[in-house]
Amino acid sequence: MNDIAIIGGGAAGLTAAVLLKRAGKDVTLFERGERLGRKLSATGNGQGNVTNVHMGAEHYHTDDEGLLARALARFGERETVAFLTSLGGVFVPDARGRVYPAGRQASAVTDLFRRELERLKVDVRLNAQVTALARTKGGFLLTTAQGKEQFSAVILAAGGCAAPNFGTDGSAFALAKSVGHTVLPCSPVLVQLKTDPQEVRGLKGIRVDALLTVRRKGKEICKFRGDVLFTESGISGDAVFRASSYALSGDEVEIDLLPDVPEEQLQAALQKGEGADCLLCVVNNGLGRFLWKKCNGEKRRLLSLLKAFPLTVKGTLGFAYAQATRGGVPLKEVTESLESRLVPNLFFAGEMLNVDGDCGGYNLQWAFTSAHLVSEAISCR
Ligand SMILES: Cc1cc2nc3c(=O)[nH]c(=O)nc-3n(C[C@H](O)[C@H](O)[C@H](O)COP(=O)(O)OP(=O)(O)OC[C@H]3O[C@@H](n4cnc5c(N)ncnc54)[C@H](O)[C@@H]3O)c2cc1C
Repeated sequence: MNDIAIIGGGAAGLTAAVLLKRAGKDVTLFERGERLGRKLSATGNGQGNVTNVHMGAEHYHTDDEGLLARALARFGERETVAFLTSLGGVFVPDARGRVYPAGRQASAVTDLFRRELERLKVDVRLNAQVTALARTKGGFLLTTAQGKEQFSAVILAAGGCAAPNFGTDGSAFALAKSVGHTVLPCSPVLVQLKTDPQEVRGLKGIRVDALLTVRRKGKEICKFRGDVLFTESGISGDAVFRASSYALSGDEVEIDLLPDVPEEQLQAALQKGEGADCLLCVVNNGLGRFLWKKCNGEKRRLLSLLKAFPLTVKGTLGFAYAQATRGGVPLKEVTESLESRLVPNLFFAGEMLNVDGDCGGYNLQWAFTSAHLVSEAISCR
């Protein structure tokens, strides 16, 4: 019987493969795609935001915050940077605390993993989708198009439903279900919010550094400062991605388009010109023309649009455009080492578990943290 099978060659699976092989374990890594780390290579707008110096369970959504906090305490951002540095490269935080490879190339992080796997001579199977997972006496039987193989332990690290173009269409949850696990309903997060297209018509491509507030029946749900990018069907950008973890269809969004400019200063600027010209050097000219039309020439209304531009959420762009998945296998069904409470020697890592983080390196951190916990537990046996 073979030793350990890792299902999924993303951030979590790659990390587990490296750590276990370094610990002297016999590892086979199954990846359904033709390349390893395809999603990892696309992270952070291609720059690879691998973690964040402001780490903590408050940046995550899960069914067991206690377990998550203890996991991060064992393997947090410092341990991630040390681990990645052990593969090579230099990792540095930006002014907001987001940690990137100094070369700002996510694909180079994947290359570091590939180099280490080659050096360690890990058995990597590409184009090898695991289609069935069955319990046998003393282990597991895995089925791929290439045949069936026995393993004594299995790590399910096959991702969630977000960005199915990278091989994660949620089909791997069937493997967890087949051995008795629950899969909590999945929804897309870190994704563009849709609005009525009429509300943003003509603004496509305009980006503002704004303060975005989400309200439900008048009650504030969340507030984020950052980029808001107007799109054909709604809003995108950093602040919107963060808000998408909280916003629901029907919620009201209010955008302060000039959060650093006090109302009195704005009022004074608006008196200096007529028509849309009063917004010259106040906002982007395209946005200025749009707002002037919307306020029907009323400067009081214009001021209120500048400080609280209103939109209504009409859903999200869905998994195809999402960066992460809410839902999955509940933490309540795994131990502190992320071993199944139902099936001994079955482990979970990464986005398959019901953990999703804020925008800013938190999801990759979870992939690294969870893979570390699993590998440590298996290595100690
Ligand atoms: C565009 C984009 C940008 C992002 N940017 C960031 C960022 O900057 N910072 C951050 O922290 N997070 C970011 N994320 C989120 C982050 O990339 C993921 O949360 C993280 O990669 C999840 O790692 P994982 O190993 O659990 O799963 P994945 O990386 O999704 O890997 C799972 C792998 O399993 C394979 N697989 C699936 N089913 C099977 C099967 N049955 N058999 C074999 N293989 C299978 C898939 O092909 C895939 O390669 C981004 C996500 C996207 C889509």
